[in-house]
Amino acid sequence: MTAGQGRQGGVTGALYALIVNVCIALLFAASFAVVRASYPQQRASIVFCMTYAWGTLTPLSELAVHYTPQTLFFVALSYGSFTVSMLCFLAGVALIAERPLPAWLIPTLAAAALVGRVGIWNVSRDTLLFGVVFQAPYYIIFVINTAIAARAARTSRDPMWLLLGIIFAASACYFMAKPFFAAAFGFGDDPRAYATSGYALFSQAVGGLLMVMSGLAVLLMIIRLALRSSQEASETDTLTNVANRRGFERQAAAMLAQAERDGKPLAAIMFDLDHFKRVNDSFGHATGDGVLRAVAQAAQRALPDTALIARLGGEEFCALLDRTTLRGAALVGQAIRDAVAEIDPHLPRVTISGGIAQLRPTDTLVTLLDRADRRAYEAKANGRDRIYPLLSLDRSAEPEEGPLLL
Ligand code: GH3
Ligand code: MG
Ligand code: MG
Repeated sequence: MTAGQGRQGGVTGALYALIVNVCIALLFAASFAVVRASYPQQRASIVFCMTYAWGTLTPLSELAVHYTPQTLFFVALSYGSFTVSMLCFLAGVALIAERPLPAWLIPTLAAAALVGRVGIWNVSRDTLLFGVVFQAPYYIIFVINTAIAARAARTSRDPMWLLLGIIFAASACYFMAKPFFAAAFGFGDDPRAYATSGYALFSQAVGGLLMVMSGLAVLLMIIRLALRSSQEASETDTLTNVANRRGFERQAAAMLAQAERDGKPLAAIMFDLDHFKRVNDSFGHATGDGVLRAVAQAAQRALPDTALIARLGGEEFCALLDRTTLRGAALVGQAIRDAVAEIDPHLPRVTISGGIAQLRPTDTLVTLLDRADRRAYEAKANGRDRIYPLLSLDRSAEPEEGPLLL
C-alpha cells in the first residue's frame, strides 16, 4: 500500500503496482475472514481482516485520484483509510500478544494523524517536512508494534514473536526513511518520471514486501493460536474442565519421557467415586454432574501444580505426579480423599476409592495405570473410601518403592 503518491496521472508502472496492492490487500482480508469463520474465538482475525479491508481502499482511492474529478475526497480517503488500516493492525498485534493498549492510545494517534495531515495540506509534497509529518503516525505505530513484539518474544520465548519484532522494526525504519528518500529523489516531475524514479522503486518494492511479510507472519501466528486453542478444547473434558483421555495420553507421554530423562520418580493415582450410581438414582443426573465437577475441582486443589489430572471417563479420574514416589502419591491420595469429603455441603456426600503406583524402569503408561487400577479395585473390594496400597504415612518408615520426595 502506497499512501500519498499524489496526483501523478495514469501510468503503467505505478498503476500496475497499485492494482497489485489492491489484490494483495484483498487476499489478506479474505484469508483473515476465512480464519475468523473457521475459528470464531480468534477475535484478532476480524481486526486484521478490517486492517486489510481498509488497506484495500488506499490504492483504490489513489487510482480514483488519477481517474475521477473528486481529487480532494480521494486524497483524504487514501490517507484516512491507510491510517485506519494501520491502527487496526496495531490493535490486532496487541490482541494476539494479549497486551491491552491504553484506551486513549488509538484515538490519540488517530487525532494526531488527522491534525498532522490537515497541517501539511498546503505544504509541497517534495519537502522533508511534508514527508516526516505524513509518515509520523505509521512510524510511531510500528515502533509500538516492535515494542509489543519484543516484549512478547522475551516473555514467551517464541521465535515467531522475534520474527514479527524484526519485521516491525524494519517497517518502522522504512516509514522513517521514506521522507528522506522522497526529499533526496523527489517524486518526479511527471508521471513517467515518478514511475521510474528511485523513490517509487523504494516505496513500492520495500513497502510492498514489508506489508506482505507482516501480513503473512501475523496470519501464521493467528492460525497457530487457533490450532493451539482448538487442540486445548479437544483435550479438555467439557463437564469438569480437567483433561480428557486424549489430553491425558499426550501430556502423560511427555511426563513419562521427562521423568526418564531426569531419572526422577513419577507416580499415578487412579480413583473413582464410590456408589456413584446411587447418587444419580437418588438425586438425578444433573446433581451427579455437579458432584463430578466438584470432585474434579477438589482433586485439582489437593494436587501439586505440576501434577496432571484427567477424567478418563464416567466417574473415573487419574492423576499423574512428577518427582513423586509411591509414598508421596499416598500422601496426595489422602489429601484428595480429604478434599472430596469437604466439597460443597449442598451436594450429596461422596467418597472415593483409589490405587497408586510408582513408575518402574520397565513400565509403559499402560502398565503403570494398570497397576494403579488393580490397586483401586482392591480398595473397592476391601470396603471403599480408601487409597491402596495402605502405606504408613510416617515419614521415618521404610518406603516400599523408593525414597520419599514429597
Ligand atoms: P462403585 O463404588 O463400584 O464404583 O459403584 P458405582 O456406582 O460408582 O460404579 P458403576 O461403574 O456401577 O457406575 C458408575 C456410574 O457413573 C454409572 C453412571 O450413571 C455414572 N456416570 C458416568 N458418567 C457420568 C456423568 O457424566 N454424569 C453423571 N451424572 N453420571 C455419570
Ligand atoms: Mg464408581
Ligand atoms: Mg465405575
